Amino acid sequence: MISANDALKELRDGNRRFVGGEVDAASMASRAHQAELSNGQNPFAIVLACSDSRVPVELVFDQGFGDLFVIRVAGNVVAPSQIGSIEFAASQFGTNLVVVLGHSNCGAVIATLKELSLEKTHRSPNLRAIVDRVRPAIEPVLETHRDSDVQTLTGAAVRANIQASVERLSNGSLILEQLLDDGELTIVGAEYSIETGKVEFLDER
Ligand SMILES: [Zn+2]
Repeated sequence: MISANDALKELRDGNRRFVGGEVDAASMASRAHQAELSNGQNPFAIVLACSDSRVPVELVFDQGFGDLFVIRVAGNVVAPSQIGSIEFAASQFGTNLVVVLGHSNCGAVIATLKELSLEKTHRSPNLRAIVDRVRPAIEPVLETHRDSDVQTLTGAAVRANIQASVERLSNGSLILEQLLDDGELTIVGAEYSIETGKVEFLDER
């Protein structure tokens, strides 16, 4: 299994190809040869991303079949099933890198901001489970951005939500904590820009 640093480089290079409109022979080949993966998988990165249709994870990193273990949920929130999926992949495949991939103009973040601004809507308990997980990250941002315009506020809220998921993954699982302590896992946040197609990696931990 490649190191977290090499995995990060692979993702950075892939996003550069995506933005530049290039097609990589290796990822094309892996798309063409998915049948060869029938005996097993060896994904080099785990990605917790938002379900937003504008953020197709393999495409934005120019990766193919078998490359990424992807968990998608609205607002890239961390609930037990997300942690369990990551524990599974990290311990089963020895994957060393976890990326929490948020994105600009995230609907889950915007919905939570609206709710906090008292534009309350009636939500199902299931939708509430997502909003309630986004809310703690965003409340302090609302405090510090009282005078900001909506775009600045939304951008700050998106990043706070990504960082909150990184924090929760880093402190919400004995298995992941052990892997982090042993230096066998790196968890990083990243933000995808819907406008430019670029992925910006935030602070590593
Ligand atoms: Zn989103």
